[in-house]
Amino acid sequence: MNSIARHKTLRSLLLLSLLFSSAAFTLGQEQPLRSITYRLSMSRPLSHLFEVRIEVELPEGPPPKSIDFQMPKWSPGRYASFDFAKNVQQFEALGGICPSGAQCKMPSFPVSRVDDQTWRVATMNTHRLTIRYKVFGNDLSGTFSQLDSRHANFNGGSIFMYLVNHKQDPVSLSITPPPGWKIVNGRIDRKDQTEWQFSNWDILIDTPTEIAADLTVDEFQVDGKLYRVMVHSFGDEGGKRAALVRDIEKIVRAETAMWGPPELDSYTFLIHFAADDHSGDGMEHLTSTQIIEPGALGEDGVYGSALDTVAHEFFHVWNVKRLRPVELGPWDFTRPANTRGLWIAEGLTNYYGHLMMRRAGIWDDTRFFRTESQTVTGIENALGSHLMSAEESSLLAPFLDGAPHAQRTNLANTSISYYPKGELIGLVLDLLIRGKTGGKASLDDVMRRMYDEFYLKSPNATYYLRGRGYTNEDFLRVASEVSGSDFSDFFQRYVSGVEILPYDEALAFVGMHLVRGQAREPFNAGIGIDWEKTDKLTIGSVRNDSPAEDAGLQEGDQIVSLGRKNISRENWLVTLARYKQGDRVPITVKRDRRTIQTTIVLREPERFEYRIEERKDATAAQKGLRAIWLKG
Ligand SMILES: [Zn+2]
Ligand SMILES: [Zn+2]
Repeated sequence: MNSIARHKTLRSLLLLSLLFSSAAFTLGQEQPLRSITYRLSMSRPLSHLFEVRIEVELPEGPPPKSIDFQMPKWSPGRYASFDFAKNVQQFEALGGICPSGAQCKMPSFPVSRVDDQTWRVATMNTHRLTIRYKVFGNDLSGTFSQLDSRHANFNGGSIFMYLVNHKQDPVSLSITPPPGWKIVNGRIDRKDQTEWQFSNWDILIDTPTEIAADLTVDEFQVDGKLYRVMVHSFGDEGGKRAALVRDIEKIVRAETAMWGPPELDSYTFLIHFAADDHSGDGMEHLTSTQIIEPGALGEDGVYGSALDTVAHEFFHVWNVKRLRPVELGPWDFTRPANTRGLWIAEGLTNYYGHLMMRRAGIWDDTRFFRTESQTVTGIENALGSHLMSAEESSLLAPFLDGAPHAQRTNLANTSISYYPKGELIGLVLDLLIRGKTGGKASLDDVMRRMYDEFYLKSPNATYYLRGRGYTNEDFLRVASEVSGSDFSDFFQRYVSGVEILPYDEALAFVGMHLVRGQAREPFNAGIGIDWEKTDKLTIGSVRNDSPAEDAGLQEGDQIVSLGRKNISRENWLVTLARYKQGDRVPITVKRDRRTIQTTIVLREPERFEYRIEERKDATAAQKGLRAIWLKG
């Protein structure tokens, strides 16, 4: 099947699944329960076991025979399935609810496991039940949870089951932290808070929470809203925390200058400096974000990287958390979500995150254009750019967004990410709108109109959140209306299609153009290294139709020598760069228990480096338009 046919099949499958899931959703709504209370404790942090209790009170009248408790297969913001149920243990059901602090003897109720994510509890004709289970969590991330001697950091989707057909019911949460540990999340409204009410389970799991003894919290206010910056450092901060908080405030000011004050009373940045070289993430929520940097704040580059993530995640307060694709909330947690809109939700957020670093004054023009140039270089060198559109990439997020693959795939050659592709669509679209309207309108206006129309002014389409979601067609319509130009052709070619974006047409409006040059690394012969395998030099991917493929190299091969010299992760490219086009380079690899010797015949470089540069003939008017764009 070629990519176009595959695309069509995916779309029809998507339509079918939407029909079924919305029907199930309507039928599945039942009378709300009297109360659903989650109690979380962590008496043995070293075991990495979160202890969860769910107390359920049923309404009067005959109770149902049984209630299903379900662990979600995935959680919002990360689109791959992770099957959180795999870390659940010791699930049990008890008749009654024991007042907190009391010792009660409650009868055990029958439990059957219905499928890989569902536990069915018999109600035995009673109206009060308690469920207990433990969840193992030892990953510091925006999706999973971690409990250890240093802290508890949890993302609700990975630890809290929902009651099937009652996800829309109000729930409450009570946390018993270890002695001396403080609780911080994005819904704190009083000191030493340990209890919360949520309008539904979706909001409960949208409230990631950090609990530790040695975290720090700094605060500032913008437009009368309170912003908290929680930092938990596992390495040396190098005295940089105060400056970090000041720069975060600059980002908040730059983004609220575009959108207006956000619809919230307070917002919390939960930031970890993990100092473990592998934990790294950023995850958006309605009133908070989780940001995890693999380094220590005091180390080179970590400070800037954290701010870059802050600029991206805070933009999500509007784009994706409130203004959202129609498929994003409420969700069916028995299967991954499919949406065509992630190039808007994530890609445009990437674009604006970088633009806001410039508008906040943290980056200068040079740094901003260097970042966009690197994004162009990545996209234009990727074979997948010719095969996968921004829309299709969005749909395939469950395969792409950190998804583990048990079988080998050719995704390195066939896919692109909706993050950089969407970022470049944003860049080009913004400049085209600015250029065509002589600076009277911009993508900023499109985003604000979308927010107004689909969030602020739309009636609630579901229990989950205000407003309704948009489709790609809605976005096209608003972009066309705001700019006074029909963007249907643009969408057809660059969003649904895989044509190369009209960079120069767009950049010309601000007196710039794209320059293609030799990549600094002229040859990699089509070999992509698996950098996660730190002990060996392992091939992570082989570019289709490349010298490496001609030489018979495969993913998983360990490179032993190149040009008869032993090589390492550090020197392999330098070694290869000593050769020139047409040279025959002997290479030895280990595959399983075999040692294979073959020859790479180098061709002309396949990779180019792209730079966005000022045109010599840039006019004052074009430079003026550029300044307005970059300063906001
Ligand atoms: Zn922590
Ligand atoms: Zn994002």
